[in-house]
Amino acid sequence: MGKWINRILVPSSGQDASAHIAPEDMARLVDAAVDDTERERLFQHINRCRRCYDILKHSIEGNPFAGTKRSDASVWWKRRTVYALAASILLIFIISGQLVYRHWTRDTGIVSATLDLDQQLIDILLEDSALQIGQSPRLSRLLSALRQRGVPVDRIQLAVLSKPYYQKKDIFAPPEYLHIRIEDNIAYLEVKEGK
Ligand SMILES: [Zn+2]
Repeated sequence: MGKWINRILVPSSGQDASAHIAPEDMARLVDAAVDDTERERLFQHINRCRRCYDILKHSIEGNPFAGTKRSDASVWWKRRTVYALAASILLIFIISGQLVYRHWTRDTGIVSATLDLDQQLIDILLEDSALQIGQSPRLSRLLSALRQRGVPVDRIQLAVLSKPYYQKKDIFAPPEYLHIRIEDNIAYLEVKEGK
């Protein structure tokens, strides 16, 4: 996904798509231990790379020092810089939205979307073999996973799987996609190999 975005945004002479931000650089960025120039450089990559953006986001959310041991002013995501980053994040969501979702419509009250079947979604599907997911922590996890991926849905009462999901063991198997249709607060889910 990230590489795909890189190719689209940086078609020819751009930076090497495989040059992701090193873990130690990411850690220093989260710790506000980078100077302005380096932060600019790192953001330039994060702007274009969903993978590194996700890592950064999780690092910030999981950072036990956020706003505690440091004064607010020393933590970059509490300063004005954060607005620049927020603009970048919006850009990523818009671009990835076009890539990930083939279509959705809200005007009819029906939302349909196609998502890459990533590990978090797989874990939710594999939680148990019931084909109907009623009000439960599992349904809440599904709802928040859909919202995190940009699906415009506020509420689900029930999710219905078309068939039990079994994870593919073959790493060479074609990629799978989760097709979703939400109507009257009921989410109909189907895993397919194609979009
Ligand atoms: Zn990256």
